[in-house]
Amino acid sequence: MDSIWTKTFTIRKRASLKGDIRTDVAVIGGGMTGILTAWQLKQAGVRAVVLEADRIGGGQTGNTTAKITSQHGMFCHTFIENKGEETARKYVQANQAAVEEYKRIIRERGISCDLRECDSYVYSADGDTLAKEVEAARKLGVDAVLENQISLPVACAGAVCFHGQAEFHPLKFIGALAEELEIYENTPVKEVEEHLVKTPGGSVRADKIVFAVHFPFVNFPGMYFARMHQERSYVLALENAGTIDGLYIGEGEDVLSFRQYKQYLLLGGQAHRTGENREGGRYDKLKEAAGKMYPESRIAACWSAQDCMTTDCVPFIGPYAADRPDWYVATGFCKWGMSSAMVSAMMLKDMICGITNPYTEVFAPSRFSGEEIPQLLEDTGKSVKGLTKRFFHMPQETVDELPRGHGGVIDTPQGKTGVYKTEDGQLFQVDIVCPHMGCELTWNPDERSWDCPCHGSRFDYKGNRIDGPAEEGIALESSLE
Ligand SMILES: Cc1cc2nc3c(=O)[nH]c(=O)nc-3n(C[C@H](O)[C@H](O)[C@H](O)COP(=O)(O)OP(=O)(O)OC[C@H]3O[C@@H](n4cnc5c(N)ncnc54)[C@H](O)[C@@H]3O)c2cc1C
Repeated sequence: MDSIWTKTFTIRKRASLKGDIRTDVAVIGGGMTGILTAWQLKQAGVRAVVLEADRIGGGQTGNTTAKITSQHGMFCHTFIENKGEETARKYVQANQAAVEEYKRIIRERGISCDLRECDSYVYSADGDTLAKEVEAARKLGVDAVLENQISLPVACAGAVCFHGQAEFHPLKFIGALAEELEIYENTPVKEVEEHLVKTPGGSVRADKIVFAVHFPFVNFPGMYFARMHQERSYVLALENAGTIDGLYIGEGEDVLSFRQYKQYLLLGGQAHRTGENREGGRYDKLKEAAGKMYPESRIAACWSAQDCMTTDCVPFIGPYAADRPDWYVATGFCKWGMSSAMVSAMMLKDMICGITNPYTEVFAPSRFSGEEIPQLLEDTGKSVKGLTKRFFHMPQETVDELPRGHGGVIDTPQGKTGVYKTEDGQLFQVDIVCPHMGCELTWNPDERSWDCPCHGSRFDYKGNRIDGPAEEGIALESSLE
């Protein structure tokens, strides 16, 4: 399903890499992170080449809601509790600096990307939490304000407001920056060996390598698969829902997100761990919420995306692993990837240029503290469950019982297999073992995809890869009438 961004803008196509080249920095991945990192490096006089598996902006960046904000939910008081005041202050400062950097680049370059400066709000039904959050935000140097009323049809006690935030059209923005960069599209990186990056059509030898691929696909070293999981959520673009002025997000269970883009009100929600698909009907539930809040509205577009969630809600930005000093990574943005991508680009540019950056320790991928352990164990538990459950899990459906337009796992004499029956009765049978680390895939009825509950890789019903960390698709065993 196309997002409002892909429906309204197309980025110019680039050729794929053919032959072997040499550069200062190879940036793998052409989403917001990769494009910004290459662009910041270019400003510093460093030659950076972007290698994109598909089309730039075609990953999560093309399916975001594109709020540019340092207000990452109701986070200030919990960050102070978990990380201490100094680290929490640096986290906010780094992200607000990123917001300002977007505004500066767009203003100075005259980029036409529908930038709107606005305030950001996190609302809650709990007045005590709101008061605590305002106090914490002020401690961190944010000029936060408590608003008793907000212009949304939601029940709440008020909201915490951060001034000076922004929203834009993400593809128009990276499309403009990309004009200044050396980019190869349809160039999937298959292997990285020290300073050599290998793609099907050629290779890049680089002094430094940046993994800006959303979820790092090199498992060892780094072990990012054991330190993050992915979470999906869904978005509706509503027409005739009135207009709102600002960025809004709720707090607690069933969080909703709101922003305006031109005549469309973008409503997001229904978050869940990728691969946990038992419930389904997520678009329906979001549509139901939209119908209650905005009965006159019409749906102009709907789409979904996913992001990598770290155990301490702080991204991993910096050296990939201790024994790969020239590899860098930026991942784990916890659904705040616009500001985090800019933080990444500014930090990685400094690191690569040998400039001291004040935020290095806050985002260091090497960090590991006691507070992460319970979550880490929970995530690892899910991975183990995913890796083993196909030996115990009982089948839910048989092919004959499978209704048209539905998919599911079925038992065959040879073992389990995944089947999807199209609306006109055609069957697509796939191997449901994830090629990334062998977890059993689950059927996502909302997106008609096979999703991995361990690390979030996704595949369409014909087996083609949609999202990593898996690098390959799954085998289509047969397609039958
Ligand atoms: C529903 C939803 C709404 C969101 N809304 C917001 C928001 O309002 N504000 C905000 O701050 N954040 C938001 N986020 C988060 C934000 O969208 C993401 O964090 C951000 O887009 C990630 O950008 P990226 O460049 O890291 O990843 P991507 O955009 O996914 O880019 C990674 C690129 O790497 C490429 N790639 C992968 N593997 C390879 C390989 N082997 N070789 C070459 N290329 C490769 C991919 O094709 C892809 O193009 C939202 C997330 C979700 C799920």
